Amino acid sequence: MTYDYVIVGAGLFGAVFARQMTDCRKKCLVLEKRSHIGGNCYTRDADGITVHEYGAHIFHTSDKAVWEYVNRFAEFNPFINAPLANYKGKLYHLPFNMNTFYALWGVTTPRKAKEKITSQIVKCANPKNVREQALSLVGRDIYNTLIEGYTEKQWGRSADKLPAEIIKRLPLRYTFNNNYFNDLYQGIPEGGYTVLVQNLLNGIEVRTGEDYLKEKDYYNSLAEKVVYTGAIDEYFGYCRGYLGYRSLRFETLKLNESDYQGNAVVNYTEKSVPFTRIIEHKHFGIDKKLPYTVITREYPVDWEVGKERFYPLNDAANTVRYGEYKRLAAEQNKVIFGGRLGFYRYLDMDDVVAEALQLASNLK
Ligand code: FAD
Repeated sequence: MTYDYVIVGAGLFGAVFARQMTDCRKKCLVLEKRSHIGGNCYTRDADGITVHEYGAHIFHTSDKAVWEYVNRFAEFNPFINAPLANYKGKLYHLPFNMNTFYALWGVTTPRKAKEKITSQIVKCANPKNVREQALSLVGRDIYNTLIEGYTEKQWGRSADKLPAEIIKRLPLRYTFNNNYFNDLYQGIPEGGYTVLVQNLLNGIEVRTGEDYLKEKDYYNSLAEKVVYTGAIDEYFGYCRGYLGYRSLRFETLKLNESDYQGNAVVNYTEKSVPFTRIIEHKHFGIDKKLPYTVITREYPVDWEVGKERFYPLNDAANTVRYGEYKRLAAEQNKVIFGGRLGFYRYLDMDDVVAEALQLASNLK
């Protein structure tokens, strides 16, 4: 055998796994069907601005080992995610906190904000859909202004047709703190995620523009084991049906103005605005005083074969279908499944790093 591992996918999972196995003297070949490495974290340079090609990515974690691990391969800037929501031209801070409550009702103390929310909550013992769930957690104004339109656009269905489980919690923060994440560590690699992944893959053979599934038998013959981070249903030729996803269409524009929206992320929560958010990429890094800017509008769309998979639709039917694929996967001796597409799960980047480290450590 030429290699110990053929690793399918040069995203974060594939890159971390390849690094770990290479460091314990295993010979790895990484295959990537796209023309670039980095998976969905991929960033590219656009005239001095680092563009997040597949949506805004902010690294955040409370796992010290994961944070120290990624910091070995890139320097992280101290970016803090503090998104805004635009509803009918008025701006609100996210996550829901005292700044949001002040903008909504003019309340200036946590006690008054709590009273207001309590008076608006629509109690429901057993919420059957997103509308009932959200109204029972945060009440009418927050739901109408900041949740309903955004969620319906995101999932392409009306809130009373969406399962309540989509919204497990809606944290309400009674301080003036706009930091979206509660994690201990947060930041973005200097120069973008492609630098991080490049450094992870340093010295490892990588072939881009190679679709493993088109020459599965050949690539299987090259290695003892294959680690596959592509879509699990595609691997099995969709024999149990398609696993559902939401996809995104991105509209990226370079504008001849130095600052478009003054913030990295602005969500648009009205149903009638067709996109869910606008990302202004320069605000993820240090302001280089450039006279232009790059923005991206994100339009959620249904997934179909040929489109990128973004958010798994973990409803009852897809969960059953994934269970069947998982059983088929367990019967494979040669192939190990991993990553967000292999597990059919939304995973943050820190989870992906942790899972890849765990797999590598199990196989050492
Ligand atoms: P991917 O990055 O998808 O990598 C898999 C790779 O495998 C891809 O490059 C693909 O082309 C390749 N591949 C698939 N099939 C084949 C094949 N047959 N042959 C060869 N190659 C193949 N996480 C955060 O922590 N913070 C964020 O702010 C954040 N923002 C996000 C925003 C959006 C819009 C989305 C959708 C996700 C976000 N995430 C975020 C999650 C993050 O994108 C994932 O955790 C991460 O990209 C998963 O890495 P991965 O390696 O598992 O998968």
